[in-house]
This record gives sequence, C-alpha cells and structure tokens, in this order.
Amino acid sequence: MQTTGYAAQSADSPLKPYSYDCRSLRDEDVAIEILYSGVCHSDLHTARNDWGWTVYPTVPGHEIVGRVIEVGSKVSKYKVGDHVAVGCMVDSCQECQHCHSGEEQFCEEGMTQTYNSPDRITQEITKGGYAKHVVVREEFVLEVPASLDLAKVAPLLCAGITTYSPLRTWDVGPGSKVGVVGMGGLGHMAVKLAVAMGAHVTVLSRSEGKRQDAMDLNADAFLISSDSDAMAQAANHFDLIIDTVPVKHDVTPYFPLLKVDGTIALVGQVGPMAELNSVPMLLGRRRLAGSIIGGIKETQEMLDFCGRFNILPEVEMIKMEQINEAFERLEKADVHYRFVIDMQASNF
Ligand code: NAP
Ligand code: ZN
Repeated sequence: MQTTGYAAQSADSPLKPYSYDCRSLRDEDVAIEILYSGVCHSDLHTARNDWGWTVYPTVPGHEIVGRVIEVGSKVSKYKVGDHVAVGCMVDSCQECQHCHSGEEQFCEEGMTQTYNSPDRITQEITKGGYAKHVVVREEFVLEVPASLDLAKVAPLLCAGITTYSPLRTWDVGPGSKVGVVGMGGLGHMAVKLAVAMGAHVTVLSRSEGKRQDAMDLNADAFLISSDSDAMAQAANHFDLIIDTVPVKHDVTPYFPLLKVDGTIALVGQVGPMAELNSVPMLLGRRRLAGSIIGGIKETQEMLDFCGRFNILPEVEMIKMEQINEAFERLEKADVHYRFVIDMQASNF
C-alpha cells in the first residue's frame, strides 16, 4: 500500500513530505489509517541522529492512534472500523522468555521498533506514525478504551507507558513518595499517573515557570533543582525518582533526596552519562536503574487504567506541516505538554 508521511532525509534537514510503500498485508497484519500521532522527544533525537543509529530517510512517530481499514486472514481481535493504537514496538520474536512473559521490550532477539528498525522478514526499515498509514501485526496493536477522548490518547502510547512501567515496577501506591525530574511530555504523565496511584508527588524542575501547571496536575510539591536550600530540605524523602531529562546531566544531586533503598529510575537520557559521585549512593544503599517503555500487556493495562480514571495528557494539537516548528519548541522545553498531530486536519 502506497502512503505518504513526513521524513527527515538527513540529520540537518527539516522533515518533508515523503511517499513510500507500507509492507503488503500479511495474514496476521492490521492496516491502520492514522488519525493522531504524538510527538515524542525520541522522534527529535532520531531525526537529528543524536544517538548515532538513524537510518535515513526516517519517518518518526511511535504514539499512534487510528482506525482499522483492512485485516489479514488470521486476524481475530480487530475488524475494519475499530479505533486502535500502536506504541513504540511493532514486532519481536514472540518465543523467548521475555516475549512469553509479556515484556517484548526485552526480547532476546531485540524488539522491532515502530520506526528506524529492520522489519523481521523483509529487513526494510520501519516507518512510524508521522504518516497516513501503518501496517502492524495484530499482537502489537492495542485497544483504545471507548471512554477516552481519541484526540488525546496518542501520547499514552509512549509517554504514558514509559512512566507507568517504572511506577508499577517500584510498587508505587498510596503513601509512596515520588519525585519527577523534568516536566515535559514524559514528566507530566508521570505526575498524572503517580497522583492517580495515590502517591505524594513532587515535580523537580529547572525554574519557577511550571509551578502552577504542576499544581494544576495535582502534584503535591514543586522543587527547583538549582535551589540548594530547598534540595537540602528534601533529603531522605523519596522512594522513587523518575528522571526524564533528555540530555547528559549529573544525577548526583538527586541521590541524597532518596530514602534508604530508594531508586532513581532513568528514562530520559540515552547514552554515556555524566560522571557521578557514589558517596550518596553508598550512604543510603540507593540505586540507579533504567527503564524502557513497557510490554504490550502492561501497555494495555496502562490504557485501561487511564480509561478507568480518565487520565489523558495535556496536548497542543498541530498539523503535520507544523512539525519542524514543533521540534524547535520541543528542543526549548516549550510544550504544554505534548504535541499531537491531527492527520485529518493536515495537508500533505
Ligand atoms: P520533553 O517533552 O522535551 O521533556 C523533557 C523535560 O526535561 C523538559 O520539559 C524539561 O523539564 C527537562 N529538560 C529539558 N532540557 C533539559 C536540560 N538541558 N537540562 C535539564 N532538564 C532539561 O521530552 P520527553 O518527550 O518527555 O522525553 C524525555 C526523554 O525521554 C527524551 O530523551 C526521550 O528520548 C526519552 N524517552 C525515553 C523512553 C524510554 O523508554 N526510556 C521513552 C520515551 C522517551 P523542566 O523544564 O521541568 O526542567
Ligand atoms: Zn517516545
């Protein structure tokens, strides 16, 4: 099937319209007309080749909501017309222990990412949600709870699951003390989800600017990370800190804020870290951990959780043609708090 998307042709060129063939429908495939696509900072990192593994042309986008337009002969879960979603993965081996336990993100053969990954059969590079269509195998297609406003659902597929997963892994619930470093797309979802789980939530931001927004999201406290007095007063407070900062930075100042046995879960920065001082780690048996997205089972659980509590991101709707301007604003942390591309309102 021929489709059109927006692609970056190189690290320093703007995204432009680009036509290509989606793979032909296999028996277990679902063809989706994309209605909405969220704009994740990972899309920007990939378009600019910040991580060094981008294959051009690249069509980013891994927060996808759409409508089923065709299904393969073996598809049983979805039918034409259903509203569905696709996140950061579109395939995995389906046979290793991690795929069996529903954590395909740790597939021993490596998950196939929604964009910039070789297809497991054809080796063609996958193309993501900044497009009119995508073809995905049934197991990686998610159900959208009918109660949710479809235009706002897309960011749950990456920002939502990437923060839901560590909150669940580290057993956040009523009484937990959670800190969120960086209030952007991921950060503001971490706040909403942790609040819904009953935690006491503190936003750690670089400046005053987002204090009111944090309070509007029902965060309990707001801390400016450069305010050393306020940071000292917050010592030994948190069970879990989720760090969403997208660039290389020193995590040392956050360790004294953890309780004994507390954990910093890094989800933001990808790549070599800044040097860190082990002293506050040793002194509190504190841990530094990483986390990446979540499995399909957990992603569906997150969508259902959001459906039950009506949790949705704060979004700014844009057209596909505005993506380059949106990337510039994303780079400056000037988004409230996730861009969503409305494909039907776009002209390309
Ligand atoms: P985002 O919307 O740009 O938010 C990042 C936030 O971090 C900003 O709003 C800002 O918050 C803070 N920040 C930005 N630049 C900073 C700097 N130079 N120093 C300190 N803080 C800074 O990005 P996002 O979409 O949430 O993504 C965040 C990171 O997570 C990206 O690197 C992305 O690639 C990664 N990611 C990882 C996974 C995973 O599975 N692990 C999944 C998705 C995304 P304040 O203004 O409040 O300080
Ligand atoms: Zn993402």
